[in-house]
Amino acid sequence: MAKQVIILFGPPGAGKGTQAELLSEKLNLYYLETSKVLEKEFKKPSKKVFNISGQKFRIADEKKLWLGGKLCSPPFATEIIKTNIKRLADREESLVMAGSPRTVYETNIIAPFLKKLYKNNIRVFLIEISPKETIFRNSHRRICELMRHPMLWSEETKNLKICPLDGSKLVKRKGLDDPETIKVRLEEYKNRTVPIFDLFEKHGIKIKKINGEQSVSDVFKDILKEIK
Ligand SMILES: [Zn+2]
Repeated sequence: MAKQVIILFGPPGAGKGTQAELLSEKLNLYYLETSKVLEKEFKKPSKKVFNISGQKFRIADEKKLWLGGKLCSPPFATEIIKTNIKRLADREESLVMAGSPRTVYETNIIAPFLKKLYKNNIRVFLIEISPKETIFRNSHRRICELMRHPMLWSEETKNLKICPLDGSKLVKRKGLDDPETIKVRLEEYKNRTVPIFDLFEKHGIKIKKINGEQSVSDVFKDILKEIK
């Protein structure tokens, strides 16, 4: 089968990460998770500087933006994501991406780059939920300590204390899921990510909308229906 890319968009809390995990398992895709990739960079010495087309980006500054709910500088985020895509495409991996690209700058580089590598085997989904739902879900969101598995709030999960997959403790993400930070993330999404949807269409990549205010399994079914 030809290698493919699936890109998931949606406001914070739409369940992109959960759906990406499911798709990854079902279709044998590598899950390229932006937050994980960035957080890995942030573990490097904070004085490290990225030199990208003549501009300098300090890890410490990028980390500060990120933890405050802001998006990283587009050239910095783009460089990191592009490097990772390249590495995976070289290995003939199929990908599922959640959380990238997030800005017009990034899209203008990443969309043509993906088209070159994956031709027309690119599918993009927008998982939609209301702002009210975003705030509720994020303020109740937890992850596991060991593998950072996301645990969305639901009737089934609200009383869980440990990760069902590995038994580690479920905790809140420090900073990123504080109510004030969530509002910043929502604003960033509205102002910087929503405008890129038109841009995708301009690059000849269609976006399919999915109702995110359903159960995890129904959202998953709706996505799979579009793929087959
Ligand atoms: Zn876990």
